[in-house]
Amino acid sequence: RAKDDGGGEHRHYEPALHANAEERRQLEFALRRALENRELELNYQPVVNATTEEVVSFEALVRWNSAQHGSVSPGKFVPIAEDTRLIVPIGTWVMEQACREATRWPEHVRVAVNVSPEQLFEPDFAATVVNALSASGLEARRLELEVTESIFLRDASVARSSLEQCMALGCTVALDDFGTGYSSLGYLRKLRFSTIKVDRSFVQGAAQDSKESLAIIRAVVAMADSLEMTTTAEGVESVEEADLIRRLGCTKIQGYYFGRPMRAEEALQLFRRRHSDMPSRISARPAA
Ligand code: C2E
Ligand code: MG
Ligand code: MG
Ligand code: MG
Repeated sequence: RAKDDGGGEHRHYEPALHANAEERRQLEFALRRALENRELELNYQPVVNATTEEVVSFEALVRWNSAQHGSVSPGKFVPIAEDTRLIVPIGTWVMEQACREATRWPEHVRVAVNVSPEQLFEPDFAATVVNALSASGLEARRLELEVTESIFLRDASVARSSLEQCMALGCTVALDDFGTGYSSLGYLRKLRFSTIKVDRSFVQGAAQDSKESLAIIRAVVAMADSLEMTTTAEGVESVEEADLIRRLGCTKIQGYYFGRPMRAEEALQLFRRRHSDMPSRISARPAA
């Protein structure tokens, strides 16, 4: 993303853009080898019950540690993977790995996996999920698929039928980053989402006393309640934000305050601790 640093450095603007395109080509080249070079890893971020603060699930978040480029953020490489359709094999690996690692957690803890539109438009998406579940032995009810509103921009019927097949297996579907895309409430009638994830921008807005953000979160919570969906607030970073979100009635909370994305081993450690020393709040550690 080209950022204006306000320094009046106009003559650097074009070379910077050029470097971006070049960087993108290099990243794409390296990304083509990332899977076979075992450079991908999943981190897991806890999602807690807003009332009890118990961990109810972990969201799997892909990490790329490139031999050439070092650690590259998903914000940078996922769009490249989507444009090049590399997200299809990468997404299959993510699904398999997440299901496998989740089998080591207590049975009530679920795993959420982000799914790109490109994956849903593959005719065998549901088969990928079936394979990941049967190879790992994870129960379908423990798997949540996270999709964004962007799946409705193209031929929604294909994506819908893929997701409905997964729901028939017992998986649930969450609507991610709600309110940031081309939101239309009509989408909520098209698919039985189990959860609406309220984007971090609204959480931040509400914490800064934005009347609009507060009103939107209240409205989303009320709507979700009457549609028998739950709500997850994304990006809660402080005790104040957590309290506010709880008062607004969100069902679940995800954010650095309760835990950063962590490696699979660390996630597992949370459950290995004796119950009595288990803190209700997970101590934050910088993301790997
Ligand atoms: P997302 O699905 O909305 O994931 C939540 C993002 O918010 C994660 O960023 C997470 O680290 C970040 N986050 C969580 N809590 C906080 C907080 O308190 N403060 C702040 N500032 N950020 C917080 P991450 O891991 O960089 O992932 C970015 C996006 O990349 C994800 O957004 C998702 O859209 C995409 N992504 C990540 N992993 C995968 C994947 O396996 N497959 C696909 N298709 N997309 C993925
Ligand atoms: Mg997500
Ligand atoms: Mg999200
Ligand atoms: Mg978000």
